[in-house]
This record gives sequence, structure tokens and C-alpha cells, in this order.
Amino acid sequence: MKIETKVIHAGQSPEPTTGAIMPPIFQTSTFVQESPGKNKGYEYARKSNPTRTKLQDNLAALENGKYALAFGSGCGTMTTLLHLLKKGNHVVCCDDVYGGTYRLFTKVISNNGIDCTFTDLTNAQNLKKQIQKNTKLVWIETPTNPLLKLIDIEKISQICKSKNILCIVDNTFMSPYFQNPLDLGADIVMHSTTKYLNGHSDVIGGAIVTNNPELHDRLLFLVNAMGTIPGPFDSWLVLRGIKTLALRMKAHEQNALKIASFLEAHPAIEKVIYPGLKSHPQHALAKKQMRGFGGMMSIIVKGGLAPAKKLLEKTDLFSLAESLGGVESLIEHPAIMTHASVDKAIREKGGIVDGLVRLSIGIEHVDDLIADLKQALS
Ligand SMILES: *Cc1c(COP(=O)(O)O)cnc(C)c1O
Repeated sequence: MKIETKVIHAGQSPEPTTGAIMPPIFQTSTFVQESPGKNKGYEYARKSNPTRTKLQDNLAALENGKYALAFGSGCGTMTTLLHLLKKGNHVVCCDDVYGGTYRLFTKVISNNGIDCTFTDLTNAQNLKKQIQKNTKLVWIETPTNPLLKLIDIEKISQICKSKNILCIVDNTFMSPYFQNPLDLGADIVMHSTTKYLNGHSDVIGGAIVTNNPELHDRLLFLVNAMGTIPGPFDSWLVLRGIKTLALRMKAHEQNALKIASFLEAHPAIEKVIYPGLKSHPQHALAKKQMRGFGGMMSIIVKGGLAPAKKLLEKTDLFSLAESLGGVESLIEHPAIMTHASVDKAIREKGGIVDGLVRLSIGIEHVDDLIADLKQALS
């Protein structure tokens, strides 16, 4: 089945008692049992809920995986995943990650006796250098946030496999429409469903998909033990949003390609970072491991902070806000906003300079978006 069909049909069937084509929002905390232990597959809604099950079955199909779990946020997803680790374990993480991921590794998990090394994994050889005896997990995000560097999922997964280390890929930026990390050898793929999967900027949520039954069982136990679940209404909203994922991703990409070319030719812009541009240093890898280039781009405004701030304040259709992946276009300043939790020295060394601006290209008409950027840059 093609993904355009899966987003609508995978894991879905009419509700048996009424024939309702859309799944009901099972807003219930518990399920009545016939006799102790004899039930219809549901006991208590922290453990499982039929609306959430529908979402999970759909997500598993989108990522070509067998098992999926949904969470109350992307961060709740990561927190649960990191509880696969024990005191004394070591993690290697790519050096340009979502600010919240960095914060979780350096300020939360570190307190539990789990060390994390951040390194540039665009060169897979760097992973080999950082692996220690106690390395149990490699965490990558590709394209990275906000610098849109690409990491070769296949190469990294191969190294992980040879050393018996888990490889987790945060696939939030591409969504399953453009990239499927499990097919490239990753053990677990994770998403902040808050972004493209839900796509309408009205839910906070997360998800993971895997093909490994043993990992799934451990995670299922953790979800129930930790309670990092989404409610039934949010599960329903994400499932509803996913139905248009294919249409939306195509539109995000079409607009992004045109806007990237426009900005690349604009005299006020020093650099445009978008994997779909030939000028992107890893354009070839982008074409190899992704089926498209997505809707995220970063630009460096000539002159640093002052002109960058002016652009951020002057756009009209591009709203100044954190987050990404919704139908509406957003613009933000990583150094002050999404990546403020990363130390300034580390941030700047990595390339998150004061002139850097990140754009989440929405699905409005591209002519209107370009006109908005033109006036804001004038
Ligand atoms: C937003 C985001 C997260 C965190 O997800 P929340 O739903 O905000 O908790 C993790 N990774 C990436 C790449 C993100 O963009």
C-alpha cells in the first residue's frame, strides 16, 4: 500500500457497533470486566485506550514498522526511551539536536548517572571514536535542527549493529512521508507528532515505532509504569491530522524549494541552508536517503543580530513562534528561542550564530509567502 493510502486507511476500520467511519474518542479511564481478568482487551486507560490503539496502528504502518506507541509529548517520548538505559551507561548523540533533547541529556538524564557525548555525526567515523565500553545508545536527528546537516542513517546503524548498540532516529523533520529510518537499519524511530504528523499546531504529542518485539515489550512496560501517554482526544486529533500528511508534505516541499531559491538570490541573505538546494553540501545524501527535502530551512542574514531581528519582527504571514510543521508558516531565532538552553559558546561553535533564522514553510500560496519575505527584507 502506498503512503497516500496508508495515511487514510492503515489500522482503521468502521466502529463495529454503529458503523461510524471515524473512530470514537473513547473518553474513559477504565473498562468494565465480565469476571476478574476477563475483558475485551482493555483494562485501564493508562495502559491502553482504543482511540490511541487506532493511532498507533496507523503510525506503525507509516514507518514500515510492526509496533508503535503514542505519547503525551515528544519530550515524554524521549524521557521514556531513555529509561531503557541504566546508571553507568553512555550515549553518543549528534551535536546539532533539538534544544529540548540536549537539555534532557545534559540536565536530566545526566543526574541518573548516564553520560552523553555530543559529536558531529555527519562523519560516521566520529562515532567510532566516541564509542566506549559502556555505550548503549546512539541518538541521531537528520536533518539536524536548526542547521539541517544530514547524517547517513545506514552507515550509523551499521556501526551500531556491529557493536550491539541501539540506534534511535528522531524523524520529526522529514515525517514518514519523506524518510523511513527503520528501512535504513535504525532500531527505533521517534517523532514529535506535534509537528508534521499532526500538522495543525493544535496538539502536543509524540510517538515511536520499532520492528523489535523485545524492545517494544520493554517500552510498553515503561509507558504504563511512567504514564507518559496522550489523552484520547489528542490521539484522535493526531489521527485526523495524519489523513492529509501526504498532501501537506508535498505542498510544504514545493513552497520550500521556491522560497529557498528566492532567498539564495536575495542580496540581504548570506546563506540558505536547505537540503533541496544544490549548494547544500550533502545534497547527494539527501537525495539518497530521503524521498524529498521537506519544509524546513535556515538562513543566515547578512549583518548579524540587528537585521535578523528586523526580519523576524517585520514578517506578516510568517508568524514569529517556536515549533514547526504546521500548515501555517513560522519564523524563529534559534539562538534566542528554540536553542536558548544550549550554552552560548557551544551554540556559536556549532554554527547557531546571531544572524541565523529558521523558517518552517507552510502551505499558503507561495507567491504570498515570497511577497511577505520580500517586504520584510526591504
Ligand atoms: C519539537 C521537537 C521535539 C520535542 O517534542 P515536543 O512534542 O515539543 O515535546 C523533539 N525533537 C524534535 C526534532 C522536535 O522538533
